[in-house]
Amino acid sequence: MLYVDYAATTPLDPRVGEVMKPYEEAQFGNPSSPHRLGREAKSAVERARSQVATSIGASSPEEIVFTSGGTEADNLAILGYALENQEKGKHILVSSVEHHAILHPCEFLQKQGFKVTYLPVNSYGQVEPDEVKKSLTPETILISVMTANNEVGTLEPVMEIGRLAEEYGICFHTDAVQAFGQVRVRVKDFSCSLLTLSSHKIYGPKGVGALYVRKGTYLRSLLMGGGQERNLRSGTENVAGIVGFGMASQLAFQEYLPRSEHLKRLRDAFIARIREVFPEAILTGHPEHRLPGNAHFLFPDIPSESMIAGLDLEGIAVSAGSACASGSLEPSHVLKAMGIPAKLARCAVRFTFGMGNTLQDVDTLASAVDRIKSRLLAPSA
Ligand code: PLP
Repeated sequence: MLYVDYAATTPLDPRVGEVMKPYEEAQFGNPSSPHRLGREAKSAVERARSQVATSIGASSPEEIVFTSGGTEADNLAILGYALENQEKGKHILVSSVEHHAILHPCEFLQKQGFKVTYLPVNSYGQVEPDEVKKSLTPETILISVMTANNEVGTLEPVMEIGRLAEEYGICFHTDAVQAFGQVRVRVKDFSCSLLTLSSHKIYGPKGVGALYVRKGTYLRSLLMGGGQERNLRSGTENVAGIVGFGMASQLAFQEYLPRSEHLKRLRDAFIARIREVFPEAILTGHPEHRLPGNAHFLFPDIPSESMIAGLDLEGIAVSAGSACASGSLEPSHVLKAMGIPAKLARCAVRFTFGMGNTLQDVDTLASAVDRIKSRLLAPSA
């Protein structure tokens, strides 16, 4: 299998698997237990918290809240902040290209009487900071714009938006799930109060993630129970998962530069090859300000499912974009927001490279696209 769907998930880095192993076996204690096994589990969780905090430049480990993944961290950011701070105002700004883990909580809040403004994006999928400024009202309490888009790979101007939010005293959240490990992610650069991470996108285990919560930012907990994670996320901690996530975060931070150089090399070689074999193909997203590992194409007249199935038959794994959009007939909300007509949006394929890929894979992939194109677009006799 040639895997080119690293934005969906990544395999476990063996160095991560190694540190997790003891906590899946002999060191199985509950961090809340008073005995030695419990204390050791607690120390392991706290070590991981420090690793995650350092990897994003947080001021202290207490600013990290472990969750079950990016989805829960996004839900906690939006719902937790809005519900806790509603006496200050009931208006939220989010980009129209956010993940559903942001958009669906916003829809829920609208039903609870909040006003949500969905910020438009330009044809590259970028929010214009001026749009943010224009949309602010005295009621605005929260702005959420992702660091990088999971479908088209566009990097958002989060530094400018963060500065604007700070200037107006508004909480800024950014979903850095896709960006972390590929580009520089430092909470101070983004002037953010909340930031979402997910472990399984950075060669860590699935089912674990974190929300960075800047000191002095107050959230309502969505889970009620034993009061773990400083009362913000009740439930016995996924110790092995958290230990793995800590290690994966440390590696993502230490290695993001060589990783991003490797990915960029593959991506640019692939884009060049597609331009040769399929000149009508349209690269979506920003030509430069994009994730190093992402090449998202529209292949006119070839429905996404046909290209994906054709590649799957050749043992190549790619997807259309977001997991929710693939397999459904609705074109993706991201492409729609970018002004791409529905017919063309149904011809989208997302190629996301990872550390397991080589330049040889790029050739294999481009040749497969070429063969599928010739087969599907051949004039009928
Ligand atoms: N946010 C973004 C931008 C994502 O790409 C994803 C996963 O696809 C998520 C959030 C959800 O993360 P998780 O799978 O850890 O729940």
